[in-house]
Amino acid sequence: MEGPLIAEPSVTMTTSSIPVTRILAALLFAVCVQAGASDTASYEAERRALLREIERDVRETAEYLNRRELDPRVMAAMAAVPRHEFVRPEDRDLAYANRPLPIGYGQTISQPYIVAVMTDLLEPAKGCRALEVGTGSGYQAAVLSRLCEKVYTLEIVEGLGQQARARLARLGYTNVDVRIGDGYYGWPEAAPFDVIVVTAVAGHIPPPLLKQLKPGGRMVLPVGTRFTTQQLVLVRKLDDGRITTRQMLPVAFVPLTGGHD
Ligand code: SAH
Repeated sequence: MEGPLIAEPSVTMTTSSIPVTRILAALLFAVCVQAGASDTASYEAERRALLREIERDVRETAEYLNRRELDPRVMAAMAAVPRHEFVRPEDRDLAYANRPLPIGYGQTISQPYIVAVMTDLLEPAKGCRALEVGTGSGYQAAVLSRLCEKVYTLEIVEGLGQQARARLARLGYTNVDVRIGDGYYGWPEAAPFDVIVVTAVAGHIPPPLLKQLKPGGRMVLPVGTRFTTQQLVLVRKLDDGRITTRQMLPVAFVPLTGGHD
């Protein structure tokens, strides 16, 4: 008799504790969702503020860029890509500062103003095919993927390439292909490209990339060395195949590594 008597309250407690646990879980869930929602909202506010800052910087550098504002499509792409997903978790509070940030392996995610300017100089038209050399975090590729039909991006550091590939897939950027390899030689199987962007600096314009640029296409890349002033260069391949280059802006990029000379 004793057994069931003792057991009874504990059974009752167990049954009544299920709803309590559920309520607690639901409350916890609600709190988390709420925290997530306000995180998202504050990131959005920071992203909008960053866009205003980029617009201001563009006006201040208008003489270099030969334009006072960027293409609204480019700005819309910048507004849509969650940069906080592309930086290290410990740097998330700086994700919408207009500055480069470390991404490991001695590499950096570029300053948002520079990403916006480079993307704008490419004049990516609807349906374009793009090549990026220097995937890094995948951020520039994500911005381009909103403007082009397909983005091919090459990264020489295996760990970074793998991380970027996983991140882009998780965030739903299905039109980006990441390959681990030396971008100096481009991606011949996917060539030719309407636009090519190089996000690491070399002493010269890699000839394989010039070859893989479509007539009528544009390439934007920094040229210089690690320790001298680098110039952002806009390259155009004219319809008849002739090449024109134009120095746009002094910049600072990490070096293009690999076996080329
Ligand atoms: N576009 C990147 C920034 C990249 S920093 C972003 O949005 O985050 C430059 C990147 O170029 C680095 O990740 C570096 O590892 C890579 N890189 C350097 N030399 C390379 C080469 N020869 N081929 C491909 N990637 C290269």
